Amino acid sequence: MFALSIDMGGSHVGCAVVNDAQILSHRSLDSSVTTSLESLLPAIAATVRELLSQAGISAADCTGVALGFPGIIEPRSGRILATLKKYEDAKDLDLSSWWKDYFGLEVRIENDARMALLGEHYAGAARGIRDVVMMTLGTGIGGAAMMLGRLVRGTHGQACLGGHLPVHYRGRACVCGNIGCAEAEAAGWSLPNVAREWTGFESSALADAKQVDFRTLFRLSTEGDPVAMAVKEHCLAIWSANVVGLIHAYDPTIVLLGGGVMKSAEIILPHLRRHVAKHAWTAWGSLDMRPASLPDTAALLGAIPLLTEEIP
Ligand SMILES: [Zn+2]
Repeated sequence: MFALSIDMGGSHVGCAVVNDAQILSHRSLDSSVTTSLESLLPAIAATVRELLSQAGISAADCTGVALGFPGIIEPRSGRILATLKKYEDAKDLDLSSWWKDYFGLEVRIENDARMALLGEHYAGAARGIRDVVMMTLGTGIGGAAMMLGRLVRGTHGQACLGGHLPVHYRGRACVCGNIGCAEAEAAGWSLPNVAREWTGFESSALADAKQVDFRTLFRLSTEGDPVAMAVKEHCLAIWSANVVGLIHAYDPTIVLLGGGVMKSAEIILPHLRRHVAKHAWTAWGSLDMRPASLPDTAALLGAIPLLTEEIP
């Protein structure tokens, strides 16, 4: 079964033609230059045409379009209810009509974290497992849960806002309106503020870094910079608290950890495993925590299960 798959990331838009669990053609567009989805649509259309040509099929051969979007999506209508600073104009765009007019295809829109979990369940590290929680560490912290082989969506498409679980009731203000969300304490967008507010920041090598991101943080921490080491420990503690919250909420068979920050899995995973073994209430035994296996393509490979799923 062929389909078009689009993954709207914060800094890039992944576009692909898929055939079941196989990506036939794929390209990533830079979206860091704009916050408007409408301004990207011509480039997406041109890219999709080229990808169809490369794959040797036409739009009419495709079942539909699956679109992963970083925001809150109403499950039945596919309406974009909320965005967080990126693609704010998406709420007012009629994307269904746009895809119908340009490619003659129906579109189904899904939250990007949930679409990534669908992809991992269909073709990756969660294949054959019915109860899964996925946590994605990147610019934000994505969360998605699957129970009995079905995505948990909730009434308004908010389940589960994994990165917006509060881990510190006197913590930092989050973009969602809450206080002390895991995202506000330890995600790509909040890390520069967390680091700058740390005692001794001015004398740390972090203060001279062009960009305070997780790659820099982990590198300087390994080199022995005391502030970088302390901020790293803080982030690991936040993610640990967050993942225990998700385990207690959903009782999964496995927890998958994905996202760009997991390039440092050798640092993150042992810490989280130790914390979960010690603090999560899993009276039945030990929980399996694994890195996601499709770091760049999970959401794209969620296309077929999304398009063929009946949403009650
Ligand atoms: Zn929040």
